[in-house]
Amino acid sequence: MLTGLLPDTVNFIEYVENGSLLHGNVPLAQFSRLCELIEDDEGSVEVSLTFRQEESQRVTAVGTAMTELKLACQSCLEVMSLPVAIQIDVTLVNDENELAALPSDSDGIVVEAPMVSLTDIIEDDLILVLPMVPRHEEPCWEVQGSDVETGSVQETHRPFAKLSELIEKEAE
Ligand SMILES: [Zn+2]
Repeated sequence: MLTGLLPDTVNFIEYVENGSLLHGNVPLAQFSRLCELIEDDEGSVEVSLTFRQEESQRVTAVGTAMTELKLACQSCLEVMSLPVAIQIDVTLVNDENELAALPSDSDGIVVEAPMVSLTDIIEDDLILVLPMVPRHEEPCWEVQGSDVETGSVQETHRPFAKLSELIEKEAE
């Protein structure tokens, strides 16, 4: 059983043969397309996968991925955490033709056996669960009340206000 920080690619044929569970973490920063859609790429995705050979002789990657994504709430524009858990069921194929021949209800990715990229297996499904319009579930002011001090917000804004006053004065 592989745990801890996972390599980007694994030999899935070995996993099929010994039937072991792959469990560990993939850094969020490795999901480049996902990272363009989220506010912070710190953290990691906890992955549990098994690879098994189906009757069709094709190999599927089946399991779960869990993480917490940082998104900008579209109501208050503060960063919010969204816990995400997805089911993975992806068929590994050798080329685009095999991919096109898969039943329409199954997900597939093209791999160069015996290696497969873990980010390739997971990234599309993670992107699909992102809400179109992320919003705090609680009213925004309730969520913010505890950790955002009005005082500190004003302090960060005030220097700019003073700066613009100065610029205006100099311009006169
Ligand atoms: Zn909000």
